[in-house]
Amino acid sequence: MPRPLVATIDISALHHNLRIAKSHAPAAKIWAVVKANAYGHGLERGVRGFAEADGLALIEPDNALRLRELGWQKPILLLEGIFDASDLETVVRARLDFAVHCNEQIAWLEQAALKGPLDVHLKMNSGMNRLGFKPEAYRAAYQRLRAVPAVRKITLMTHFANADDPLNPGLPLQQQVQQFEQGVSGLNEERSIANSAADLMHPELKSDWVRPGIMLYGATPGGASAEQFGLKPAMTLSSKVIGVQRIGAGDAIGYGSRFVASAPMLIGAVACGYADGYPRHAPNGTPVLVDGMRTVTVGRVSMDMFSVDLTSVPGAGVGSAVTLWGDGLPIDEVAHAAGTIGYELMCALATRVKVVEL
Ligand SMILES: *Cc1c(COP(=O)(O)O)cnc(C)c1O
Repeated sequence: MPRPLVATIDISALHHNLRIAKSHAPAAKIWAVVKANAYGHGLERGVRGFAEADGLALIEPDNALRLRELGWQKPILLLEGIFDASDLETVVRARLDFAVHCNEQIAWLEQAALKGPLDVHLKMNSGMNRLGFKPEAYRAAYQRLRAVPAVRKITLMTHFANADDPLNPGLPLQQQVQQFEQGVSGLNEERSIANSAADLMHPELKSDWVRPGIMLYGATPGGASAEQFGLKPAMTLSSKVIGVQRIGAGDAIGYGSRFVASAPMLIGAVACGYADGYPRHAPNGTPVLVDGMRTVTVGRVSMDMFSVDLTSVPGAGVGSAVTLWGDGLPIDEVAHAAGTIGYELMCALATRVKVVEL
């Protein structure tokens, strides 16, 4: 028998979540974001799950080519643009849209004498200070791009730091919106500004294109739970109990003996560890389902297994079904317990984990 650890991907949940994204921005076109192997769900499943999207967006040029090989005919957007002038050959060949966020990228375009048409997304740094042109430099960048004969469409793009936390004192959402509006004033082009959080929580931000990622996979970008947004988990990670131990008061579990029992307990070893993508920093008490009942992890997560408290799960033993996250246990809850976000857990799903479809 193969190892019982399995990630089950529900393609119908991808469809469903895409429809939710659309319902929040009915007039906008949708880039379904499939970077990082479709947030761990598999690029090919993204192609099928998001067949109704207007385009697919990602980071990796090689995976953009792969999307074409998989038969995706609609637009594809490179969210960070090209990494080198040599990527221009790829964008022309595969008809890729791409972000332009710095003068170096514009220079590569100017020097290449390309045959277009190229559709580019001019990225503004509206306050996040990672990529993009400052508002005061935006127009000059726009004009430089406009002068490149191969460039056809220029979409006005920015990315918000705090759409899930609009009053964040470090950078209030409204401040970013104002910076963006100031930088693009007078430019009559389509706009692309909304990630999942902006799509779900800020319908007042008019965007011709929205760029949802995390919500499409059924996790929350913040603000409320995925369930409250009507999202369905697309990935369920499940395994089995492969061994049990009866322990007494004073007995310790796992490396570092981080958990010491204060009373007799029944402990199960679950076939899933940090080499599968389960977070090693999950503390004692991280939620887990055994035979559909909620219980908790105990002791340190090791490479190939971790331990759960079976004391109060009637009939639990070797072979009991375990849900690490997904259907019945939101990934966001597990992530929160482990001090991270659902994004990180789903993206970290390891290649050794078997993936099946519902
Ligand atoms: C990843 C990404 C998104 C999607 O963000 P979510 O929070 O997953 O919705 C949107 N835009 C850009 C530029 C991104 O890099």
